[in-house]
Amino acid sequence: MAYDDNNVFAKILRGEIPCDKVYENEHAIAFKDINPQTPVHVLVVPKGRYVSSDDFAADASDAEIAGFFRAVGTVARQLGVVADGYRILANHGRDAHQEVPHFHVHIFAGQNLGRMIKPIDK
Ligand code: 5GP
Repeated sequence: MAYDDNNVFAKILRGEIPCDKVYENEHAIAFKDINPQTPVHVLVVPKGRYVSSDDFAADASDAEIAGFFRAVGTVARQLGVVADGYRILANHGRDAHQEVPHFHVHIFAGQNLGRMIKPIDK
């Protein structure tokens, strides 16, 4: 899938639409999700043009990958959620219901998050 420069996170990265930013480093920014699913719901977004975890893992440089995942850890510590716990999640493609085609990791926290995933019907 080709990268779409008009996706909403590309517009946020270019400063064309606002976000509630909580952190930024050379390779990533983090901002609050506009429609939070948990009391703490932050998105960590690499600055490079990657559609999902698939091309990010394949094509990003070691520095981009390190900068991105260090940002995830830093944001979690900054949010104060390490002691009680948090969940990181990244959706790729149709079955995962990825909505925004720019790679991002969700950080969910601030409540008991329950089981990891809804079990399949048997
Ligand atoms: P996905 O399903 O792609 O993993 O999740 C996309 C997330 O982006 C959703 O949780 C949605 O609420 C969030 N989102 C969509 N548009 C915007 C926006 O304009 N600003 C912010 N801060 N979050 C957004």
